[in-house]
Amino acid sequence: MNKKVKLENLNRKIRQCKKCSLWKTAKNAVPGEGLANAKIIFIGEAPGRQEDLIGRPFVGRAGKLLNQLLNTANIKRENVFINSVIKCRPPKNRKPKSNELKNCRMWWQKQIEIINPKKIIILGKTAFDEVIGLEELKDCRGRWLKIKNSLYFPTYHPAAGLRFPKIKKILEKDFKKLKKSTTL
Ligand code: URA
Repeated sequence: MNKKVKLENLNRKIRQCKKCSLWKTAKNAVPGEGLANAKIIFIGEAPGRQEDLIGRPFVGRAGKLLNQLLNTANIKRENVFINSVIKCRPPKNRKPKSNELKNCRMWWQKQIEIINPKKIIILGKTAFDEVIGLEELKDCRGRWLKIKNSLYFPTYHPAAGLRFPKIKKILEKDFKKLKKSTTL
């Protein structure tokens, strides 16, 4: 089975997932989208209102900022894969609970396994704690970390950039650094 079919099958299972209770309040699960053979994956926190309504990742205000940042880095959105560590919107966009993160873990891990990207860009503290789980985001952001043969680049979440101009500046700086180190 090729990667695209494998990923489609997996995403179908994610849309039917009832492992935690978030499916009860979500309108649509948001498995993520992009190329099955992407060299870069971006991982965020959880779908918000807009994402929940249409079942696609990063299509709300944070997604608009992410699109601008991708432009800064000269990365085409259609050439990467974008997902989150939580696939169903938490009510009122509250922070995901630990059992929800735990139950959702196998989904993004399987996505990474199938896509097998060269680089993984971590957006925000929730994804950082979940995927990396060591140290603090503020101490590691803006540089490449090599962990068990994978390359990670943690930075802030675009939603934080919308709230705090200082963080938006740091995001712009980090994505300029990404431009220098990626060729997509
Ligand atoms: N924020 C995220 O972390 N993921 C989305 O899909 C949308 C907003």
